[in-house]
Amino acid sequence: MVIKEVLERVIACLKEHGNENAVFEAHMIVRHFLKLEPIDLILLKDKEIKKKEIDDIFEALSRRIKHEPLQYILGVQEFMGLEFIVNKAVLVPRADTETLTEYVINKYINKGFTALDIGTGSGCIAVSLAHFNKKAYVRGIDISQKAIETARLNAKKNNVEDRAAFCIGDIFKSNLYGQYDLIVSNPPYIETDEIKKLDPDVKHYEPIKALDGGADGLDYYRRIVNIAPAMLLKNGMLVFEVGYNQAKTVASLMKKDFDNIEIIKDLCGIDRVVVATLSSKNR
Ligand code: GLN
Repeated sequence: MVIKEVLERVIACLKEHGNENAVFEAHMIVRHFLKLEPIDLILLKDKEIKKKEIDDIFEALSRRIKHEPLQYILGVQEFMGLEFIVNKAVLVPRADTETLTEYVINKYINKGFTALDIGTGSGCIAVSLAHFNKKAYVRGIDISQKAIETARLNAKKNNVEDRAAFCIGDIFKSNLYGQYDLIVSNPPYIETDEIKKLDPDVKHYEPIKALDGGADGLDYYRRIVNIAPAMLLKNGMLVFEVGYNQAKTVASLMKKDFDNIEIIKDLCGIDRVVVATLSSKNR
């Protein structure tokens, strides 16, 4: 079989299974297993493909039509223009989360900082902060060992392993984590009852622990707001990503110990990030 033929078959099969991005995803799958640049799919369209490569492509296709996210099949996802390794132990980094990451990068332009990323997952936030601010020192913590292994690989892949440390642990059971200029978190924030309504790609494959924020989705915000003051330096900042309808409630949770509470919208105009400074009465 030649490249063109395989590509057509993959597109047709994805379309048949209702995939709305069939052409794009087929290109991604074929390019990944043949290690090709986008233009090669045209230039080399009549090239014969080895049996092993055909098998790999169709194996990927069969996983995809069962709704496994493309990113887990290919093992990578782009975030902030960087490439991250992903697997079933970590949430696939979302474009939504670039809002938080860009906010912090812009806030600290030309200034160093130390940051703690609670529930770091793939490490996409922590690694990006260290990558885009060469004076930043970041630490990510996660309860999942596999997530931490993945975050470490991502730090290495993006050349920040000297300034990005990752540790396994439960932040709510330990006070060993020092003090930081900044605490960031994109915690699990989906209401437990809503999880069954999510896309099959998400609910059957992504780690539920990284999604489930308890009955009202706010469990982790409450818990982090409680422990953050003790881990922040003077004028330290707490930066949360929130679900589409949570910003105001999370902002009100922060009122007790934080000032200058600000809500930032994502590119779709949805309230996506809540930021605040530790109030001076705490330091
Ligand atoms: N910090 C990671 C991310 O934003 C993981 C978030 C999570 O697991 N809730 O992708």
